[in-house]
Amino acid sequence: MINDLNQLRADALAQLAPIWDDTALEEWRVKYLGRKGAISASMEQLGALPKEERGAVGKLANETKGELEAAYIAKVGAMKQRALSESLEAEPLDVTLPGRPVLRGRLHPATANLREIYRIWGDMGFQIFRSRQVESDEMNFQLLNIPPNHPARDNWSTFYVADTEQRVLLRTHTSPGQIRAMRQLSQGGTQPVRVILPGMCYRYEQISARYEIQFNQVEGLAVGRNVTFADLKGTLTEFARRMFGERPVRFYGDHFPFTEPSAQMDVQCIICDGAGCAMCKYTGFLEILGAGMVHPQVLRNGGYDPAEWSGFAFGMGPERIAILKHGIEDIRYFWANDLRFLEQF
Ligand SMILES: [Zn+2]
Repeated sequence: MINDLNQLRADALAQLAPIWDDTALEEWRVKYLGRKGAISASMEQLGALPKEERGAVGKLANETKGELEAAYIAKVGAMKQRALSESLEAEPLDVTLPGRPVLRGRLHPATANLREIYRIWGDMGFQIFRSRQVESDEMNFQLLNIPPNHPARDNWSTFYVADTEQRVLLRTHTSPGQIRAMRQLSQGGTQPVRVILPGMCYRYEQISARYEIQFNQVEGLAVGRNVTFADLKGTLTEFARRMFGERPVRFYGDHFPFTEPSAQMDVQCIICDGAGCAMCKYTGFLEILGAGMVHPQVLRNGGYDPAEWSGFAFGMGPERIAILKHGIEDIRYFWANDLRFLEQF
């Protein structure tokens, strides 16, 4: 029996050595290590042995089994290694293949557009002045010549957040920042001011393709000793040139409570270059901002003496500018976070 086991081990190892394919290896495993294999058969014969031999033979049978199992595992590893080397030799790595691109995020188009506007105004000597989004009725309306019950209030549908004496509200425009900027930066009405006031504004609107309840606005303010309407026109024309390239602009009269006189500025349509299209309603021009000379009362509210100081102000909607620049048909895309929209920029 002991001789049989030694022979079995020698045969098994000899047969395993030249095996290099999966089918033959599986056959070998079934033949020696399977449930009905040679080792199992030897174990079953133990019972028939005389008692004094059983211990030694059983031990050898277990050792043989362990040895064959280890040889089997080693073989599986060796075969994997050989298969890998062969495939590397047959199909060498092509280091010239292009790599897999790494997906990177990018700025939201509204942010990118805002930064472009900041950069242009920064280059032109305007500093950014940030102002609060929750305002008092006084700041948002009254100091800008819009007293309570004034019909102009209909233009700014307002979210009131607290109906106290102060009438706290979400700012409907960035204009209250004009008062704050003048009061903070003018050193008691003795220094000129040149700022842009960007930020989110809120209106109690029915959301539609043209109106959102929240939107960015970039307001601008320049106050000095001899600021004229010619400065307003020249500065805004230069902004349009830097933002939209060389194309005609036009000004025409408008009305705002906090500027006098007031104007709208149009730039030649970016889509049709002035020929007329649906975007410009076949006028060849697109309205991009409102502006005007700061009203004397507003200057006074900001701490300046309007007999000595004058200024101009303007306001634009950067989302509207992006819409015009890219021909976007619906303002709601900006806040819907739809990747199909965002990936186009
Ligand atoms: Zn057009």
